[in-house]
Amino acid sequence: MTMETIIYNGKVYVDKDHFEEALYIKDGLIVAVGSNQEIMELAGEGCEKLDAGGKTILPGFIDSHLHLLSVGEYLVLPRLRDARTIDELVEIGRKFIEDKPKLVEGGLIAGGWNQDLFTGEKRMPSRHDLDRISREIPIIFERVCGHVATANTKALELAGLFDEIPKLEGGTIELEEDGTPSGILNEGEAFSYVARHFPRPSLEELESYYISAIDHAVSFGLTSVHSTDARDNNYKEIFELLKKLKREGKLLLRFRHQINLEEPDNLRDFLASEYQDESYDEQLYLGPLKLFKDGSLGGRTALLSKEYQDEPGNFGIEVISNERMDELVGLAHEGAMQVVTHVIGDEAASRVLDSYEKVIKGGNKLRHGLVHTQITDLKLLERIRDLEVACLVQPIFLDYDLHIVDDRVGPELASTSYAFKTMNKLGINTSYGTDSPIEELNPFPGIYCAVTRKDLEGYPERGHYPDERVSLEEAIDSYTLGGAHIEFNEDRKGRLKPGYLADLVILNRDIFTIPEEEIKDLKVELTMVGGRVVYKKDDKK
Ligand SMILES: [Zn+2]
Repeated sequence: MTMETIIYNGKVYVDKDHFEEALYIKDGLIVAVGSNQEIMELAGEGCEKLDAGGKTILPGFIDSHLHLLSVGEYLVLPRLRDARTIDELVEIGRKFIEDKPKLVEGGLIAGGWNQDLFTGEKRMPSRHDLDRISREIPIIFERVCGHVATANTKALELAGLFDEIPKLEGGTIELEEDGTPSGILNEGEAFSYVARHFPRPSLEELESYYISAIDHAVSFGLTSVHSTDARDNNYKEIFELLKKLKREGKLLLRFRHQINLEEPDNLRDFLASEYQDESYDEQLYLGPLKLFKDGSLGGRTALLSKEYQDEPGNFGIEVISNERMDELVGLAHEGAMQVVTHVIGDEAASRVLDSYEKVIKGGNKLRHGLVHTQITDLKLLERIRDLEVACLVQPIFLDYDLHIVDDRVGPELASTSYAFKTMNKLGINTSYGTDSPIEELNPFPGIYCAVTRKDLEGYPERGHYPDERVSLEEAIDSYTLGGAHIEFNEDRKGRLKPGYLADLVILNRDIFTIPEEEIKDLKVELTMVGGRVVYKKDDKK
């Protein structure tokens, strides 16, 4: 049975300065765009007709890097991001344990605190603070960046850290003056050293996280997500779970895995056995290997070429050595698998480019990319261009980072960082996203930040290094076509043209004519994925 839909009476964004009124959709694909009259003539019998009420229609948004599973967890778990003091953090934790004792039986891992947002003392919480929540239930609270966490005494005891402090390659366990752990854990390896003593969430729990996150995502107009959920310790489980969600019709959007395998043996296994599977299609598909090279700017763990201006002697953390990076990139590349790597500091980016350069010959055909690419100078950006490496960036990070970046790296390097306009001028493929749950997955605040270079309160008045502002069309295209490019789908996604997938959104107001400051408040009225309406305002609640 064929399914036909006409959306008419809209303002359809086709290309810069090119709008049409209507779309004709058949079997999930856009067949024609044109005037109301032209399109109406195509309607066959039983064709569904949808009046857009004069509203603006954009291609569906593609978030090129987020963590959908964690988004779901954040929706269910305590909202640490709301804490403005350590006392509030303690109170939020206490209340959650009181309200949901069943959920915390084996322990509580949650994330989102940020000491920079604290109103009084801006220190990170220690184990002693979290002990005020509980001495019996093991607790780990991650910082919003995901690169620093605090554990309470119970959790540290379970990990044996009062008997012995292990030497870790990719992380540090902070100590107090008396040699006992402070509770602060830097980077993934330190985190997992403690977290592995917590019970793993059940499949039902994981599924409920996904379902909440998917509902949330389509309500913000996301039609595709590139999500880093599968890791060394869970990738088979996550692959199976997503397949199940798809089979049961619960995967309302398109999902591309970014697969975080840092153990070469796992990667070898994966490349040998799991890489190809006929159940993957345009709804659910495997994607790149996702690696981490450094930490975060907020936590001063991003790897810089010069010491932190506000912490002399500190250059940040290298999460994965150059040798391991070369090995993993080599394996992936040989297996025709794309690689995207988390780099925040300029030194991290240039070392990862060294690894990429060894495999990129005669063009970057696998489209290896750099996720975040925040601290840059022109030379680094030109090298990225020369190697044809893509940048998967998060303009919404400006909301917070524009307040700290000058202090962290000094104004000179800050002035050439978050260089979204320069990236476009150089012809680097940029795709936008949010790294949610680091930030809310709503795309509009990100578009606003890219276009205005201001935080969400409108600061600074003239924009942060305003030469790096991009045009509205550039921002929209990076959020749609840019994401399509990184997944090799620029001929199928990111435009509303014949032959493209019918993934689109209808907005409540016209993004092209409202004042720039109001872009961040835009809402989606309807989201369509492959011709199917997956979200409609007022559907629920
Ligand atoms: Zn991330």
